[in-house]
Amino acid sequence: MTTSVLTREYNSPTRPYSKNELTTKYDRFIEKFKLNTKLLISHEKCGHKYYVKINSKKEQSMLEGNTSSGCSVCWRLYNTVKPLREGANDLNRLYQEFINNYQDDPDQIEYFDIFLNTVFYTWLYGDKSSLSKREEKRRYE
Ligand SMILES: [Zn+2]
Repeated sequence: MTTSVLTREYNSPTRPYSKNELTTKYDRFIEKFKLNTKLLISHEKCGHKYYVKINSKKEQSMLEGNTSSGCSVCWRLYNTVKPLREGANDLNRLYQEFINNYQDDPDQIEYFDIFLNTVFYTWLYGDKSSLSKREEKRRYE
C-alpha cells in the first residue's frame, strides 16, 4: 500500500492558537504552495473552485482569458488511483465547502482549514503517489 497525502490523519491542535498565529500559518501555506489567491478559478460545468499556482501554464492561460481550459480538480480526481479515489472525493468536497464559504478573510481561518488546504493542494499539485502509473510520468500543472 502506497502512502499518500490522502491518507494523512488530522491531529487536533494540542494548544489554543490565536487568530494571529492562524493567519500567519495560512499566509505561510499560501507562500509555500505559491498560490495566486487573486485568481480563483471557477469551472461552470463541474462547479469546482481552486487557486492556480503562480507562474504556471494554467495561470498564464487564465490571464490570457482562456476560460475553456480543463478543470485541474476533475483531472486529478479522474487520475487518482481507485483505492484512493473515495478519499480524494471526500477531500475535494470538504475543500469546495471551505472555499465557497471563505470570504477572502484570513480571520476566518481555523486550524483545521490549514490542514485541509495543505492536503488538498498537495494532492492537486504535488502528490504523485495517488496517481496511476501512466499519469505519474506525465507532467501536469
Ligand atoms: Zn472540475
